Amino acid sequence: MRTPIIAGNWKMHNTVAEARKLVYETRTDLLAIPSVEKVFCPPFTALAAVAELVAGTEIAVGAQDVYWESRGAYTGQIAPAMLAEFCTFVIIGHSERRALFGETDESVNKKIHAALSVGLTPIICVGETFDENRAGRTGDVVSRQVGAALHGLDAAVVAKLIIAYEPVWAIGTGLAAEPEGANAVIRDFIRGPAARDFGEATAQGLRVQYGGSVKPENAAEFFRQPEIDGALVGGASLKAADFVGIVKAAAGSRD
Ligand code: PEP
Repeated sequence: MRTPIIAGNWKMHNTVAEARKLVYETRTDLLAIPSVEKVFCPPFTALAAVAELVAGTEIAVGAQDVYWESRGAYTGQIAPAMLAEFCTFVIIGHSERRALFGETDESVNKKIHAALSVGLTPIICVGETFDENRAGRTGDVVSRQVGAALHGLDAAVVAKLIIAYEPVWAIGTGLAAEPEGANAVIRDFIRGPAARDFGEATAQGLRVQYGGSVKPENAAEFFRQPEIDGALVGGASLKAADFVGIVKAAAGSRD
């Protein structure tokens, strides 16, 4: 059985002081739930502080983006090896980066290769927009994003990746997807293409999160779905009780 993984994407929230406070408020409760992998993804500026507070524990740290070059004249960018000093995960291809900062399928693929080259585990975000959903293009879009993201990788690597299925219309809107519908998209358009390109065993090893307005109240229903192995959580990860509640729901789904 795949171990559930809950990652909190703090987005552009939390100064170092606020980040420390959130870790203090959640750390003890989270460490009491060992059956679920837990990841804090603070902004770059709080990575070091958060990493220090969870060092030696089963809570991991992730960054929210990475650049694909290893060094050089790229003002404002952060290289994979710089992140690897503080964290073990990195979110790549979040819809906000695709929509606001010019992220493409090609740049996502380059970032995934770069992250893997230093041992970071990418959390790869895919998902259709509202218009694409309404036009019946969810399958085309998601399977295209998955195929492009995994291009050039070995099956052994793919089996260890995390993909987050995040319908763009569900992110930060309070309008979560229907759990059964998200389960079907993951089965048909994420594990399906992965099985075709890398084999069934690889596709079954891959962990796939759902993301989009996950809250303690709706989390359990997502985690009951056989294809859903956890969540990428935005807004609710900023509230200690909500994030802990979601991690508890993930643990409960495996009892
Ligand atoms: C996200 O930022 O990836 C996300 C899913 O946000 P929210 O949980 O707020 O919808």
